[in-house]
Amino acid sequence: MKTLKILSFLLFLGPLSVPSLGQDRPPIIDMHMHIGAPLNLPAGAPAPCLPQPCIRKGQATATPSDNLEKTLEAMERYNIVKGFLSGLDLNELRKWAEEAPDRFILSPFIHEPEKADPEELRQQLEAKSLAGIGEIGSQLVGIAPNDPRLEPYFALAEEFDVPVLIHTEGIGPPVPGFRSAAGSPLLLEEVMVSHPKLRIFVENTGYPYLDEMIAMMYQYPQLYGDLSTITWIIPRSAFYDYLKRLMEAGLGKRLMFGSDQMRWPEMIGKGVEAIKEADFLTGDQKRDILHDNAANFLQMDSESKGQQ
Ligand SMILES: [Zn+2]
Repeated sequence: MKTLKILSFLLFLGPLSVPSLGQDRPPIIDMHMHIGAPLNLPAGAPAPCLPQPCIRKGQATATPSDNLEKTLEAMERYNIVKGFLSGLDLNELRKWAEEAPDRFILSPFIHEPEKADPEELRQQLEAKSLAGIGEIGSQLVGIAPNDPRLEPYFALAEEFDVPVLIHTEGIGPPVPGFRSAAGSPLLLEEVMVSHPKLRIFVENTGYPYLDEMIAMMYQYPQLYGDLSTITWIIPRSAFYDYLKRLMEAGLGKRLMFGSDQMRWPEMIGKGVEAIKEADFLTGDQKRDILHDNAANFLQMDSESKGQQ
């Protein structure tokens, strides 16, 4: 009996001794997740960092299943209730969804647009086994967002009214085909005009093309931005400077957290902390970025209303 009392007292104390886990765990939506990385790196390799020289941190997971397990652990720890999950391998995507039903929005990674198959994607969107388009990562092979080869994917996203993530910014992985110049957010303009109903969001809110991104977001209210890799890949001061200026421009209702964890699930926590530790944001602004803006963008309210 006495042992039981001590045990329950210890259980009672438990959460108090770990405050970040115990009490305040509001739900988070991660708008930028991957089943792996486009980089061919050995297990344990540290994550990239910018600008060089810089100290790389983290340890790449060894296998896809290791990546899945550690990603789910991090989601549990930070109460991430939904993830926009992108991958080239549609079977692997499905495996993640089976492991964690209702946790992921499955979406095909589009790398070289000629190699993807819009007709197959159409069937999967119709069957609802996919519910997004992208990340469109064709900037990694030097293809700009206004390239006609991407047109079928934007058309599909608009037709099925699903969210699209695109890598349109100045920075990217160290691959030979990547071109910074193909990432100016202004290159999205013709896409926005041709597809006015597109629900599209830009990786890292176009970093570091601040002025171009503000212009596009002012002009096209359906355009959102994520705060993903820049929460951990660039110096914290550079991330905060960018975020502050986006907030001052009045865009705080259209910025969404994303981890872009690739093969480094520990970056999920680093990304969340970077938002939580931003002392220039109010509690409401943090909640918007970590959850509410994405819930609006994903139309989660109307979805659940539709189910009632
Ligand atoms: Zn990505």
